[in-house]
Amino acid sequence: MNKKIIQIKNCFLGHGYASLIGYHKLLEISNHKEILILRNKNTSPIFTIEHEGHSFSPLPIFPVEESKLYQSSLFNNVPKQEPISVSFSTLDNFNHKDYQIKDGSLASFMLSNDGIDTRLCLGLKQWGDDMLTTPFSQVQDKIKRHYISSGGNTRMGYVNGLSLFKYAVDKLNPEVLDYANLEKVDIEKKEVHTDDYIIKYNKLISTVPIHFLLDICNLKQDHNTNYASSYFYFFEYKNGFNANQIIYDCDFKSDILRIFSVKDNFLLAQLRSDKHGQISTEKIQKRIQRLVPSIKELKFAKELFVPMSYPVELISTPDTLDSINVLKQNDIIPLGRFGDWKYSDLHELDWSSIV
Ligand SMILES: Cc1cc2nc3c(=O)[nH]c(=O)nc-3n(C[C@H](O)[C@H](O)[C@H](O)COP(=O)(O)OP(=O)(O)OC[C@H]3O[C@@H](n4cnc5c(N)ncnc54)[C@H](O)[C@@H]3O)c2cc1C
Repeated sequence: MNKKIIQIKNCFLGHGYASLIGYHKLLEISNHKEILILRNKNTSPIFTIEHEGHSFSPLPIFPVEESKLYQSSLFNNVPKQEPISVSFSTLDNFNHKDYQIKDGSLASFMLSNDGIDTRLCLGLKQWGDDMLTTPFSQVQDKIKRHYISSGGNTRMGYVNGLSLFKYAVDKLNPEVLDYANLEKVDIEKKEVHTDDYIIKYNKLISTVPIHFLLDICNLKQDHNTNYASSYFYFFEYKNGFNANQIIYDCDFKSDILRIFSVKDNFLLAQLRSDKHGQISTEKIQKRIQRLVPSIKELKFAKELFVPMSYPVELISTPDTLDSINVLKQNDIIPLGRFGDWKYSDLHELDWSSIV
């Protein structure tokens, strides 16, 4: 079958918040008709999930009040919201001296900071025992950026269970082309080949995982592409826990990392992802009831496992670094958490190469 040919100035590969925010940014120098977003029609929804009358964001994604992005025109006419409120339960059943910690590991990095017991208790729930022996250099990097030398990190809460980013990108109306299979990117001819189309581009901005992009561009790579997962149980309730509160669960015997009230009657519990499939909903429900005694008529709603949630190690190996240079020399720009392979938030996206 002959493929249809499309010629476009700017092509985004991947359809998540990073490409939509990138699209908005690109409109500063480009025209709507000159931009196309390619979306994989087989991927699961990242923006909103529907469950028995509830619409909610699957991941807790909050804009940062002090950031240039939140202050930019992207957020014009987006509903205003207060920051989320964060608290910690009492530290129980944990002493860092019970653990053997290897030099250079994420845990040893944490040892040099205050509040080691709480940090390590929560860290082990989020990253698992590997953090005692491996660097998790992406996580160390993010802790340095956000929490040690912070330029302000006030996170704005949801409105009706949806991230403010969702309201911001909903007003954009980009051209989107769905594909089922991505066959290759020909970096010399500047073409993306899908099952039905050949898209000829001047610039390609990719938010798909960097190792996947390098593969389809037929470029070498030697990076450690380990990533961490995230695991959620969602609960409905009648009342007793108002929206936009986070409680970190510092009892090491509990499998909950944190709970977050998405709405006044709906919450998510982020669980130990290393125990995916092994956690009883009754146990989690009991623990939530203890963390928030005022909560009424709590009922399990659904679960969600997101395998690829956080990149783990920084890119530092020669072949991958060389290949990323080749991409850039050929007008292919990796962008976003997985495009760039950086454990970053949306307000940290690097626009410089797009506009
Ligand atoms: C629990 C949690 C909390 C978070 N909190 C925040 C927060 O408060 N603030 C914030 O800014 N960010 C937060 N994030 C990060 C947030 O997920 C990202 O900032 C945002 O979703 C990144 O958007 P993206 O477009 O880069 O990635 P994605 O939305 O993941 O898009 C990547 C694209 O790659 C495609 N893709 C994926 N795998 C493949 C594959 N194998 N082949 C081809 N295509 C593929 C996807 O379909 C998608 O189009 C959080 C993440 C988690 C897990």
